[in-house]
Amino acid sequence: MIQCVRPEGAKYDYCSRICCTSTIKNAMRIKVASPNCRVTVLYKDIITYGFREQYYTEARRRGVLFVRYDDDTKPIVETVGDTKKSERVGDTRKGENNSQLRVTVQEPILRRPMVIEPDWLVLSTAIEPSAGTAEMSKLLEVPLSHEGFFLEAHIKMRPMDFMKEGIFVCGMAHYPKFIGECISQALATAGRAITILAKEPLYVGDTIAVVDQAKCVGCLTCVRVCPFHIPKVDPDRVGVGEIVGAAYIEPSLCQGCGTCTAECPATAIQLMNYTDRQIMVPESPVLGSWVEV
Ligand code: SF4
Ligand code: SF4
Repeated sequence: MIQCVRPEGAKYDYCSRICCTSTIKNAMRIKVASPNCRVTVLYKDIITYGFREQYYTEARRRGVLFVRYDDDTKPIVETVGDTKKSERVGDTRKGENNSQLRVTVQEPILRRPMVIEPDWLVLSTAIEPSAGTAEMSKLLEVPLSHEGFFLEAHIKMRPMDFMKEGIFVCGMAHYPKFIGECISQALATAGRAITILAKEPLYVGDTIAVVDQAKCVGCLTCVRVCPFHIPKVDPDRVGVGEIVGAAYIEPSLCQGCGTCTAECPATAIQLMNYTDRQIMVPESPVLGSWVEV
């Protein structure tokens, strides 16, 4: 079994978290069914987090051989013998054709090449985001991590939320995880949704951006700069000089980051509780004085 197999030219190199434990589970099952069967695991780093570490210990106790490699000493897999009859990797059992798989790896302790001729070769490749993830992220206007999985609002404070309110994430769409972790996260996500659905009126935060449409020139700056894609220019609203179309910011979606407030060329947007007058204190010569608005 070879861990951490990446296709040549793979875009990103990341740990899929569950492969090592699956490999060790399979290796132990083979050992339980057939104790004399030799199982060798070639790995870069064994990730069996939490209590799964004991399975790693148990696998070694049962005789599973673990050999470490790194990027400079990657295992070489080749087919030797009558390669014409070998049509696919893994279909090389002796007796069915004359070819044989051969794996050569540098043994780091002995510092010499180790040659294995396996009956079966199992590769642990990266778990990738499902094909529709990118399209779904565009539809919902929620971000992806650089590996292409959905990106939560905050890894510790809001692990099921997106920055865009009312949309939650769980399971392998988030990143590779075990089924138990998926279920725990799904329960937490349902709990988060219930906190919204159980309330009759929905209270929103008080630090939100508000547009004074009488000043808005419809320049779309706020639409472009908002990192959460919240402001819209509403054609049913009237801006400065009776122009048709003025910006509107949905209070329940605004994250209160203040970016649009700083960028609006017409100073038509104010961040509640952090308005220009409150911050600049024009009437007071004393730094830090507070002015009622
Ligand atoms: S940046 Fe200001 S002026 Fe431009 S559309 Fe937004 S609110 Fe209106
Ligand atoms: S305050 Fe931030 S989140 Fe709210 S509309 Fe402006 S840029 Fe977007």
